[in-house]
Amino acid sequence: MPDFTTLDGATASVSESAVAALGHGLVGDMLTPASDGYDEARSMWNAMIDRRPGLIVDCRTEGDVIHAVKFAAEHRLLLSIYGAGHNIAGNAVCDGGLMISFQNMKAVDVDADSRTVRVEPGATLGELDAATQVHALAVPTGINSTTGIAGLTLGGGFGWISRKYGMTIDNLLSARVVLADGSVVVASESENTDLFWGLRGGGGNFGVVTSFEFRAHPVGPEILSGLIVHPISDAPQVLRAYRDFVKDAPDEVTAWIVLRKAPPLPFLPEEVHGTEIVILAAMYTGDMADGEAALAPLRAIGSPIADVIGPHPFVGWQQAFDPLLEPGERNYWKTHDFAELSDDMIDTLLGYVATLPDPQSEVFLAQLGGAQGRVSDEATAYQGRTSAFLMNVHGRWSDASQDESSVAWCRDLWNAMAPYATGEAYVNFMTGEEGERLETAYGSSYQRLVELKNRYDPSNLFRMNQNIRPTPGS
Ligand SMILES: Cc1cc2nc3c(=O)[nH]c(=O)nc-3n(C[C@H](O)[C@H](O)[C@H](O)COP(=O)(O)OP(=O)(O)OC[C@H]3O[C@@H](n4cnc5c(N)ncnc54)[C@H](O)[C@@H]3O)c2cc1C
Repeated sequence: MPDFTTLDGATASVSESAVAALGHGLVGDMLTPASDGYDEARSMWNAMIDRRPGLIVDCRTEGDVIHAVKFAAEHRLLLSIYGAGHNIAGNAVCDGGLMISFQNMKAVDVDADSRTVRVEPGATLGELDAATQVHALAVPTGINSTTGIAGLTLGGGFGWISRKYGMTIDNLLSARVVLADGSVVVASESENTDLFWGLRGGGGNFGVVTSFEFRAHPVGPEILSGLIVHPISDAPQVLRAYRDFVKDAPDEVTAWIVLRKAPPLPFLPEEVHGTEIVILAAMYTGDMADGEAALAPLRAIGSPIADVIGPHPFVGWQQAFDPLLEPGERNYWKTHDFAELSDDMIDTLLGYVATLPDPQSEVFLAQLGGAQGRVSDEATAYQGRTSAFLMNVHGRWSDASQDESSVAWCRDLWNAMAPYATGEAYVNFMTGEEGERLETAYGSSYQRLVELKNRYDPSNLFRMNQNIRPTPGS
């Protein structure tokens, strides 16, 4: 009889006939540790995560999801949900429990007339962009094309066009959700509105989403975008000038900062490779000529080593950072939200960039605001609407012997930046050890999320996530 990890962390046997009966009801396959493809199915973007589920249900239909949820609930098995396996915390995979996999459930259906898109939960951002850009449409998502739409949406979702068109959750029209008892509901502005509020930022705490419906917007297919690269010696002036530029930038402009050692990019002189640089990465969501005018002051800052701003296909720009973010490396992240970039904060940050522990490690500073910031705090579970910037410290390295030193660098930098932070934080950038941060991270949403959890998942079946714990006895 196979042994499984239960919700309480104990070990329990489930009869072989019960497992076989589950398999008979599925359209998709079941993978055990002995199956071909098991290791591939449990592997995550972050190589620090190495967990071994007792059973993987390779869902192909909503019916498969219902069977899997009911099976886990009946046997009180630890349950995890794998969208595209990108989340830094690694909660998509559980040790010894049942993992629902969406790796083969990733259809994207675009209705170009109504500008709406239905997306299955295993689709990546690249697959969504490919389908929508055929019609010169786009849904606001993130900046790395191999990220999964499911996890991204449930945490919030923002990227190059969010200042113009809102976050991913602001463009979510409805979702189909399998609840802890196996029933299916639709959540939207008119149905199960409390659940709809919670799905938009509350993570996978309330059920399993089997289908997302999004609003899309006209974007591209060509847009003005690219990178401007400065030497780190100019960083104090460049970051201050960037701060002045973004203060009055229109919603169409999005400009992020990346601080890192220069990768061997063909447009960078060889002597710069491996040295610390400041990258200004920018996009204009709109007319090309308007974009040229809007980005001109950013391009006029200092004396860049390179400026490759120009017309690019939107799908290409959405993949621009992919080579730096390939799966399979060891990663540790720390994040803060900021209301402003003060002189002190900039100088503190640059002090840590001088001691980057690895050529792959970097600090991203995202410009927020615009349409994303004009949604009220009450409208969605996501908090941080009034934050102007978000920092994500990407500790990234290949060799496990570097784990301790790289993690320590990330934590030290994060601690040093804490005095400048708002306290709210994006749950999708939080590691697995940051559960105690959730109440502050969710700010005014937290209590409402607990009430929703009490209502929809009082037994905390959906606990492999940034977990909102139900009130005991609820
Ligand atoms: C390199 C990289 C770049 C990123 N860039 C951005 C960015 O630009 N903008 C941004 O907003 N975010 C970004 N993210 C963060 C990203 O949004 C999260 O990592 C997100 O969780 C990834 O979704 P996934 O489906 O791939 O994750 P998974 O690891 O598969 O799932 C994450 C969690 O989501 C829940 N979940 C997944 N599918 C479902 C479902 N169908 N129903 C219910 N719950 C589910 C589960 O709790 C699961 O543990 C980035 C992440 C990486 C690694």
